[in-house]
This record gives sequence, C-alpha cells and structure tokens, in this order.
Amino acid sequence: MKTSSLVAERVWKDIQSTGSVTNDQLSILHFLFGKNLEKATRIVDQSGVKRISGQSSGRSIFQVVGESKRKEEYLCFPEHYCGCYSFFYDIVNRGEQLCCKHQIAARLAASLGACLDVQVSDEELALLLSKLLTS
Ligand SMILES: [Zn+2]
Repeated sequence: MKTSSLVAERVWKDIQSTGSVTNDQLSILHFLFGKNLEKATRIVDQSGVKRISGQSSGRSIFQVVGESKRKEEYLCFPEHYCGCYSFFYDIVNRGEQLCCKHQIAARLAASLGACLDVQVSDEELALLLSKLLTS
C-alpha cells in the first residue's frame, strides 16, 4: 500500500473514533485529495451518501450522488471501487489519484455518521451488486 493511502486510512479511523473532523485532519485530507475533498464535502452536505445494507448479511454498499445536473448515483465501495468515469480514467488507468470524490464522500459520511442508512433484503442487495457486473 502506498504511504499516502496509509496516511488516509489513519485519518479516516481517527475521524470515525471521534465522530468529528479537526482542522489538522482536514489539512491532511486536503493535501491528499485536493479539490476532490471539497467536492466530496459538498456531496455529504447535500445528504448525497446512502449506505445500503443487506438485512441479515450486514454487507453494505454505498450509493453516492454525482455533481452533474443529471444527479446520477454511483455505486461505490469506499476502499476499492466506484462506478464513475473518473474512477476508471484517473485512478485505474492513470494512477494519478488515490480515489474519486464519491469514494471520499462515502468515507467522510461513514466516518461522521452522516450517511442515510437504507436496509434492504439480501436479495435486493445481490440484485444491486449484479448491476455492477453488467453496467
Ligand atoms: Zn466515483
């Protein structure tokens, strides 16, 4: 794992344990994520992060609203994956960034307890996940 990822992990854990963000933590996140952090903060402010959990498995995936006018929603695993264009282009192909703004928004909302929690059955969750494979 890259050093910057490890630093980010540490900061997310600290935020999660206190449920709030200090100015120092914000500076570190800003250093790591730049403009994407501001975008992610806006998404969280608009309550744009949903955590969809399967009732009995407890497994979950995030659904994050995009910033364009179309307000499309992206399925997202904060640590590993996002369905948006930027994830494939900037992160997977070019390796220029750690993660996209949706992943940061999901991480931030989860750490602050600011996401909308939605419970679905495990079947519905499986259906949602199967869309990742076909889209
Ligand atoms: Zn994304």
